[in-house]
Amino acid sequence: MKLYKKSAYELSEMLRSKQCSAVELLSEVMCRAKEVQPELNAYITFNEDAFKSAEKADILIARDEDIPPLCGIPVAVKDNISTKGLRTTCASRMLENYIPPYSATAVELLEAAGAVIVGKTNMDEFAMGSASDTGIFGAVKNPADASYSAGGSSGGSAAAAASGGAVLALGSDTGGSVRQPASFCGAVGFCPSYGAVSRYGLIAFASSLDRIGVIGRNVRDTELLHNIINAADNKDVTKNPKKFPRSLNGSLSGLRIGIPKELFCESISEEVKTAVMNAVKLMESSGAVIKEIRLPSASAAVKAYYIISSAEASSNLARYDGVRYGYRAENCSSPADMFRKSRTEGFGDEVKRRIMLGTFVLSEGCFDMYYKRAAALRQKLCSEFDEIFKECDIIAAPVYPEAGIPLGAQKKPAEIYAADICTIPSSLAGQPAISVPCGRALNGLPIGLQLIGRRYNDETVLSAAYGYELAGGVYDG
Ligand code: GLN
Repeated sequence: MKLYKKSAYELSEMLRSKQCSAVELLSEVMCRAKEVQPELNAYITFNEDAFKSAEKADILIARDEDIPPLCGIPVAVKDNISTKGLRTTCASRMLENYIPPYSATAVELLEAAGAVIVGKTNMDEFAMGSASDTGIFGAVKNPADASYSAGGSSGGSAAAAASGGAVLALGSDTGGSVRQPASFCGAVGFCPSYGAVSRYGLIAFASSLDRIGVIGRNVRDTELLHNIINAADNKDVTKNPKKFPRSLNGSLSGLRIGIPKELFCESISEEVKTAVMNAVKLMESSGAVIKEIRLPSASAAVKAYYIISSAEASSNLARYDGVRYGYRAENCSSPADMFRKSRTEGFGDEVKRRIMLGTFVLSEGCFDMYYKRAAALRQKLCSEFDEIFKECDIIAAPVYPEAGIPLGAQKKPAEIYAADICTIPSSLAGQPAISVPCGRALNGLPIGLQLIGRRYNDETVLSAAYGYELAGGVYDG
């Protein structure tokens, strides 16, 4: 088997026993990434210094003492996660030439663990979108079928990990952006509890929802990388819990799985429902107990999410004014003219739509009607989840209504937003959730099973997903 197809665990073992070097491994992965780049468009920037890091990893391995856990493993990083000295664009003209003066905490932890950063991955502009097609670098295509999108917004990270252009990848998930592209590409995508991974250096979209997640080709690898970045950080104001225990035993015996009727509604395609329910039945045959549950606020949650996330985005993106950093328009007649022109030319349509929506819902006279009601709905949803988790350990659901989105699909924004119904509820409630491949649709595209856990019970989610994998869950690649 080619090195770029192997798991992180296997590669770690091979590196330590000197069956291959980190430089050799990186050459293979880099070669693979560049070979599929013209077709998939997964990367925005390749890391010129990657080979230097691989050489360092080889030196550590040669010394044979205190080898860090990810030593020599090639990892891709989504282009909204700051990397010191390495261009970080958010797929936006606004940050097209931005070189961060510092790295995100997650990136620092990755590097301290010996990982090698292959490059920065393509995405929707400022992570706003569902098909990685709103950015300035063009759409990311699906490795399973290039006439389909890789999903979004972390489409580049999912396509890179799934195609062998990276062993693991970091993405960000605000309303489903790690889980959905992972499911489209046949990879595993884990979105941890809100606050489990520091947001320091993650370029803000919606601060009360943004999380850094991991995409890999199997559950154990995904857990390995998550464990590295799951650490308290005093540079993040979010109250971080202590590091979570690691208990990836994969036991499904007695695991109580809730099936929410509302996430199997008529807008979900039959083949997606069937694949997900078959996966649940497989878990049942390994000892899990299935319960029907209700999540009445699920569909209202989508509206609340788009109000809250846009409100936060409108405030977060106010910093791009052409003054301190980012794109600055030329030939401006006054400072006000410069702000206006820089923002008009620097942001794309989807980002402008969210800024306008967000400004509107926060405006005097509209605040009570929209923002306040959305915030109340979020509270109600959290209470519904609290009730569910009194009688369930985990919730199983689809990730997305359809298996994939065809490239260039012309849909109205409201239709695209409504399709986020399966991922958004747990985003609003800050809960951990994972997507694991559970079959293929007639069009040949992978389908994902989503498992959602109680906030801070990340290990329950990872372990259940691992249990499904052990029970014979569907994997390819
Ligand atoms: N599709 C959602 C949106 O457009 C999710 C984005 C995300 O998670 N970054 O907001």
